[in-house]
Amino acid sequence: MAGIYIHIPYCRHKCSYCNFYSTASATYRNVIADMILTELDLRKSFLSEEINSIYFGGGTPSVLPVSDINKILKSVYNEFDVSPDVEITFEANPDDLDINYLSELKKIGINRISIGIQSFFEQDLAYLERVHKAERIPEVMNAIIQSGYDNINADLIYGIPGQTELMVEQNLNWLTEYPVNHISAYALTVEPGTALQVQIKKKIKPETDEAVLSSHFLRVSKLLTKTGFEHYEISNFAIAGKYSKHNTSYWFQEPYLGLGPSAHSYDGYSRRWNANSVQKYIDTIKQNKLREEVEILSLVQKFNEFIMLRLRTQWGIDMQEVARKFGAEWHNDLRKAVQQIQQPDKIKFKNNKLILTPLGFLYADGLASELFRD
Ligand code: SF4
Repeated sequence: MAGIYIHIPYCRHKCSYCNFYSTASATYRNVIADMILTELDLRKSFLSEEINSIYFGGGTPSVLPVSDINKILKSVYNEFDVSPDVEITFEANPDDLDINYLSELKKIGINRISIGIQSFFEQDLAYLERVHKAERIPEVMNAIIQSGYDNINADLIYGIPGQTELMVEQNLNWLTEYPVNHISAYALTVEPGTALQVQIKKKIKPETDEAVLSSHFLRVSKLLTKTGFEHYEISNFAIAGKYSKHNTSYWFQEPYLGLGPSAHSYDGYSRRWNANSVQKYIDTIKQNKLREEVEILSLVQKFNEFIMLRLRTQWGIDMQEVARKFGAEWHNDLRKAVQQIQQPDKIKFKNNKLILTPLGFLYADGLASELFRD
């Protein structure tokens, strides 16, 4: 199984906290789909596996007309062996969507919508500098449902300064009134180089608080689990086994091809990525060339990534798989490293799998690093 990720690097406005590669300028927006088609042609031999996930992300794919999305999708079908059960996700922002656009997307084969709600509270959206208004959310959610989508993800953000636990709870209550079967709930992180980092430094905006982030995280986990969602990855919750195929394949280190500026690809041996620049991307692709950086992964890097990614999930680290993939010595070393941690409230063995508890999810990065090899 393999996936294809298409990065549409345009947004109507740059949100203050965002560190994804995207631009608020519309330069080359009318040709980006054609450039992606050229890149797809140049990279079509990268994957030989059946495609079970196609993901339009960004940036904001919903800034493009449906005709652009359609031609990219058609080309994927022409060049790859696409599974009949393929999940085709489309990321969208509430301000772009209406029933016509959504219905057209459905007609061309999009079968999963991922909507960036973030919060139902205007004060949170203002802090994040999101473009959409909270009052628009019900209209958009109803349009998604009326257009016939039954596979819907919504993104939420918690830990926003000024956001109380009651507001977090209210966000979850309002959201789960809609038939969403997947929720990605992220802690607000202040990434280097973002506008938010500067605003906090200049005291224009209040800063996030680690203790608040932790208590919001535990609250979200508890409430969604009570509502019937599985907390299957640190930031992801699904109902009725509707895990995101796109994200799950990433955590299980399956191969994927990334297209578009800044997109990453992975084939099990190497990782390669395009420049974080629309201009550089267009200049190179126009010459029928690829401009990418490549990193060949060592066995230690693969092991450490395996540990880090699997620990993020409810399935954890299968110790038999460790022995099979990395040998008996590394398997035994890992067991010894776990014994030294001795924090059963955070990390434990269950049926020969090493898993994190909900509390352990909060410390996932630190715990994973204690298990890494040098
Ligand atoms: S809409 Fe998404 S990708 Fe675009 S700036 Fe905001 S957070 Fe970043």
